[in-house]
Amino acid sequence: MAPDTIYPKGKAAIREDWKRLPERLEQIVATWNHDRALRAMFQDEARLGCLSDALLLVSPVHFGSMRKIIHCDCDCFYAAVEMRDDPSLRGKPLAVGGRAEARGVIATCNYEARAFGVHSAMSTARALRLCPQLTLLPPDFRRYREVSQQILAIYRDYTPLVEPLSLDEAYLDVSGLEHCRGSATLMAEEIRARIRAEVRITASAGIAPNKFLAKVASDWNKPDGQFVIRPQDVDAFVAALPVSRIFGVGKVTATRLQKHGARTCGDLRAWELARLIGEFGRFGTALHQLCRGIDERPVRPDRVRKSLSVETTYARDLPDLAACHAELPALIAEFRRRFAKLSAPRPVHQAMIKVKFADFTQTTAECASAAPDEPVWAALLDEAWARRERPVRLLGVGVRFADVAACGAEENQPGLFE
Ligand SMILES: [Mg+2]
Repeated sequence: MAPDTIYPKGKAAIREDWKRLPERLEQIVATWNHDRALRAMFQDEARLGCLSDALLLVSPVHFGSMRKIIHCDCDCFYAAVEMRDDPSLRGKPLAVGGRAEARGVIATCNYEARAFGVHSAMSTARALRLCPQLTLLPPDFRRYREVSQQILAIYRDYTPLVEPLSLDEAYLDVSGLEHCRGSATLMAEEIRARIRAEVRITASAGIAPNKFLAKVASDWNKPDGQFVIRPQDVDAFVAALPVSRIFGVGKVTATRLQKHGARTCGDLRAWELARLIGEFGRFGTALHQLCRGIDERPVRPDRVRKSLSVETTYARDLPDLAACHAELPALIAEFRRRFAKLSAPRPVHQAMIKVKFADFTQTTAECASAAPDEPVWAALLDEAWARRERPVRLLGVGVRFADVAACGAEENQPGLFE
């Protein structure tokens, strides 16, 4: 195949690209660990000097389509486990969460409760106002963790490349596997059938060439369903996707994008990289790729979390320190909810707080603490705020975990969005 069928850019550009080809190929192969057969084919082609054919095999578009990622997500997991273990709870609105009197929030609720407008992260007090007959159970994480381990074992029957995100969600890289004649769609069906039969709860799945899209897809036919985004459909699918579906785009960012006329990922493609970086800093680079459906983050089975934090960007800046303190309880509640969902929590050794001021300067404060509570974070907030004493647009609270260096897991780069 002639090079210009691969690079339809004109001769001068082809010559330039051609010079850099060996380097580019090396790069691609270095990141390409999954499909051994294709990799061997590529190396043969390259050795035989058929670089254009080799390139065709591993051209970025083709390369992107090579991976097969499944995102599995159990349906209303905690509530599902509770209903499984006590069938009398079935068919009635049920939520798992903290008590209203303790300013608790809903961790999970079943579909009967959702029909009343109840959803996770909502305050329990509000949920009970919307649905007075709601059955509220305290979470039993020890039991949820056991069920989670059982589900992870099913995933690992298919691939060692399993990256748990929380107790009920994981990415699986099933590229180049022989199960189900290599069909990720059939594998997802089989995995879900096994979860239904062996664990007696239901899960949904998304199948796509990368993590970002697999996660979007698992939501598409929820509950107890699955959705496939084939490589050839990625472009059109992502173009129509609202920007709010992009990982890391919260309400505030979505509103800001919409104000500039970017409602969908397709709209966002008109933005040059420099403009995105100017508006959103480092996240701009991620946005530039994600709105094109590109996400090269690998599935990391060995990922060790170094920290956990939650943050909120406020629609209106918090004018003073008192206003910041007023927001702390909600942030801490959300932090605790996320902390409880970790599949393998490790000892905490530091508490931290992050403050981004209205002028976009940012500071963090941290201190040693094995079990931070509200007064610890409140003191850190005082310390961080005093550095600039001005309105605040974002607050975050979190912890760092102990012993990461000792585990030898430092080479684990944090993901794009952490
Ligand atoms: Mg779930």
